[in-house]
Amino acid sequence: MDKSLLKKAYSPEDFRARGHRLIDQLADHLADNTSGKSEKTIAWNLPENEREYWADFLANGDQNTFFQKVVARTTHVHNPKYMGHQVAPTAPIAALSGLVGSLLNNGMAVYEMGMSSSAIERIVIDLLCKKIGFDTSSRGFLTSGGTLANLTALLSARKAQVGHDVWINGHREQLGVMVSEEAHYCIDRAARIMGLGEQGIIEVPVRTNYSMDTSKLDEYYQKALEDGIQVFAIVGSAPSTATGIYDDLDEISNFAQKYDLWFHVDGAHGGAAIFSKKYGHTVKGIELADSVVIDGHKMMMMPIITTALLFKNGNHSHATFSQKADYLLERSEGEDWYNLAKRTFECTKTMMSLYWFVLFKMYGNDIFDEYVTHQYDLGQRFGEIIQENLNFELAVTPASNIVCFRYTVDSLSNDELNILNKTIRKELLEDGEFYIVQTTLKGVHYLRCTIMNPFTTEEHLVQLLQKIKKTAKEIGLSSV
Ligand SMILES: *Cc1c(COP(=O)(O)O)cnc(C)c1O
Repeated sequence: MDKSLLKKAYSPEDFRARGHRLIDQLADHLADNTSGKSEKTIAWNLPENEREYWADFLANGDQNTFFQKVVARTTHVHNPKYMGHQVAPTAPIAALSGLVGSLLNNGMAVYEMGMSSSAIERIVIDLLCKKIGFDTSSRGFLTSGGTLANLTALLSARKAQVGHDVWINGHREQLGVMVSEEAHYCIDRAARIMGLGEQGIIEVPVRTNYSMDTSKLDEYYQKALEDGIQVFAIVGSAPSTATGIYDDLDEISNFAQKYDLWFHVDGAHGGAAIFSKKYGHTVKGIELADSVVIDGHKMMMMPIITTALLFKNGNHSHATFSQKADYLLERSEGEDWYNLAKRTFECTKTMMSLYWFVLFKMYGNDIFDEYVTHQYDLGQRFGEIIQENLNFELAVTPASNIVCFRYTVDSLSNDELNILNKTIRKELLEDGEFYIVQTTLKGVHYLRCTIMNPFTTEEHLVQLLQKIKKTAKEIGLSSV
């Protein structure tokens, strides 16, 4: 077999030349965006048109323009007018770590396939556990996303709390998990994947500020018992995704202790507040959790996708999956912390520990304090600006960098306002200058911003409100 294509594909000189060009191109992209020079956050295109574009590109496009076209046709999270989903504008050095990991491609399942990245992972985990307030018996690992981390945590909880071994024998009784009705949908999904069914998800209502109503915990727990459900865990959101409001972790912990339940904190978004001197109080009680999830790709400036799952009692961290894969995993005395696939859902995973380590090494804990504090400050400030403005109404006073609000007109009904705000959001998407999202809370349609970008200023937020007002006027009331 002729190897000419393979030789071409692996050419170091080609890699060097393209790599240099690519870095220049991405650096320009970064400069244009962070400086606010770039006019659009998203050049919106309908899915079918986009598919056609790329089908045509595959057949006829100039390969040398591929990366350029990809950049042009994506959502620019480094643009200060990006205020949409909770994805971090990647810190450039962390993106470079991603490139290193991609080329080296160590699989991380066993120590030999990732010596430095496995050791680095342990150091990162220890650092996070210490920051939470866990003692040295705590452990954990990095995994591919909050969704998978929450599922893994609940599997650990079941293993630790349920008297018989579900992993070996399957379910013998109806098990249940308690969670706020405002929790991220992945908790519900995790419970269903675990075979708990709808019955096994005990949704606790929220207060008017959208935090879990902890005064109802006893009532819901007793009701579950009466229904023959063995509750083994309770999940607190820190904060919940839609509203950015934190559950009271201290109170949930008290409740969990009273009934001997596993207490899991879903800090996918806001767990990073452990680094903020000013906002550390938002996660008060996190140190009482049995397990904690923190996404690196949300409030810690890392590339998608990396999540820390941390256990107060490290033994739980490697007891979750007792399935044997001895061909991979050498039996060993002790805890064997360096063979990571024993603990993770994944077998192979990316060298994601590099992202965390490089940021800690280059900028220290302080960069996370600066980032979280700055973004949360701006969230509070945006809340004040909205409140001062007669045309706008907050869903709830922001507790983080997530802000839900809507445009209002006195003479319109709630249904009409829902349609108007939906239309506003659609117009904004198609216009592309700003990128924001939306959510529905208790039947009310809200516009939703997550202020993820360190280059977003108060001025941008004021401009957004002006743009919404103008858009609302253009839509006119006739269409609602
Ligand atoms: C984003 C989020 C998740 C899901 O995490 P992924 O990393 O997107 O899988 C879970 N819980 C909360 C509270 C979140 O904000």
